[in-house]
Amino acid sequence: MNFTRLLSTINYKKIPPSIFRSYSTMSIEKKLQSVFSKVDELKPVFIERLANAVAIPSVSGDESLRKEVFKMSEFLVKELESLGAYDIQVKPLGKQPPPVTDENLELPPIVLARVGKDETKKTIMIYGHYDVQPALKDDGWDTYPFKLVEVNDKLYGRGSTDDKGPVIAWLNVLQAHKELSLELPVNIIFCFEGMEESGSLGLEELVGREADKYFKGVDTCCISDNYWLGTKKPVLTYGLRGCNYYQIIVSGPGADLHSGIFGGVIHEPMTDLIRVMSQLVDVKGKILIPGIDEMVAPVTETEEKLYDDIEFDVNELNAASGSNTAIYQSKNDILMHRWRYPSLSLHGIEGAFSGGGAKTVIPAKVIGKFSIRTVPDIDSKKMDQYVFDYVNAKFKELGTPNSYKVELIHDGAYWKSDPFNDSFTAAKKATKVVWGVEPDLTREGGSIPITLTFEQQLKTNVLLLPLGKGDDGAHSINEKIDVKNYIEGAKTMAAYLHYYGEI
Ligand SMILES: [Zn+2]
Repeated sequence: MNFTRLLSTINYKKIPPSIFRSYSTMSIEKKLQSVFSKVDELKPVFIERLANAVAIPSVSGDESLRKEVFKMSEFLVKELESLGAYDIQVKPLGKQPPPVTDENLELPPIVLARVGKDETKKTIMIYGHYDVQPALKDDGWDTYPFKLVEVNDKLYGRGSTDDKGPVIAWLNVLQAHKELSLELPVNIIFCFEGMEESGSLGLEELVGREADKYFKGVDTCCISDNYWLGTKKPVLTYGLRGCNYYQIIVSGPGADLHSGIFGGVIHEPMTDLIRVMSQLVDVKGKILIPGIDEMVAPVTETEEKLYDDIEFDVNELNAASGSNTAIYQSKNDILMHRWRYPSLSLHGIEGAFSGGGAKTVIPAKVIGKFSIRTVPDIDSKKMDQYVFDYVNAKFKELGTPNSYKVELIHDGAYWKSDPFNDSFTAAKKATKVVWGVEPDLTREGGSIPITLTFEQQLKTNVLLLPLGKGDDGAHSINEKIDVKNYIEGAKTMAAYLHYYGEI
């Protein structure tokens, strides 16, 4: 506790004398009680802060709204300044690379800021993004997407849960501590980016450049940019699948042909392609390319136990998919196949006839797209080779004179952390004290590439601490965050900082 600063900033009359004696010797639980009451008291202020953020349509994918993305970065800088952050740096990332309509389009900056500079304390890097997905009222929203509207204890608006709600919640944590004149138990480095919804352009380079500078001394990273698995139980997330995306290009005839003239007398590229694509995965989701399943890490007993505790059933999958098409019926099978086993999906065929009606074309060139979601311990390069060898062998079996080629389009690595490390332990305690339950430890079937960037570049671990519920509708119409999740989420974040600070 910094008493000089405390004495100079507080209004004596408003604060009971007991507080002066107490903070330095107070237990974490006692300190948290003050923080929690303060968060409750400030609820209207916090909702207003989120409303102000949502009101800025910072859509990174829409070039015409780029100035709004910049405006959002300025909003954050102002808030950070007023809440006591220092060394605030707005890092320009240069021009956006093609394809762009405006060649001079500047990338939105990365906002870096520090809170606290006590070398005896640990340092947490907190990442969030201030850009949002596009949204138009005409897309089917019940209300104007860039006005935060409260209905039945839910806050609707684009960015409310992804990711302005969590970003603003961190600022709320700062305000609660500031108003209590309670020192934060850790040093914080904030890293807020404005291109997450558009491929995080420039972020990886920036993190690499600043790893030994601005980010020097980071002990752990915390990202709040995903969601609870369901709607009832808080979760902490310790793994994400990777994704390798491939294409198979098949071409033969010099131009598209008519089936009345050439049908039955030439080798058709599409027939070849479909024959090969149909041999990549079976209808039960089993990958037919040899070598891939063999690289998957076996399930351990400790891991299996984590799945047993999770609240989830097949009905939630059916509700989410809007169908009764589940391959597996048991919770563990569903979750393991979503999170810890690889999957292969067929996505589409470029160049194929896809309109209505009955066009009798024979496409001259078709490109089949598929991807494999990867998991520990798949070696990505080895897997690529298995894919190439298999596809080439299948084409050889066809004996087709058409030319074919299989290639990797992009490759995103998987991530898995140790859910029993200090950061997770602190977050578990925080969840328990705020929500009264142990969080489920989850993984996700999708990817958040930046997670791995931070882990590798800063040589530390990452915790995913989601605030919102599984039904928040990030990226969808009527995106929302429950008031409860927004407010208790800020408390969870605060408690996490305190518990991590004491480990
Ligand atoms: Zn997000």
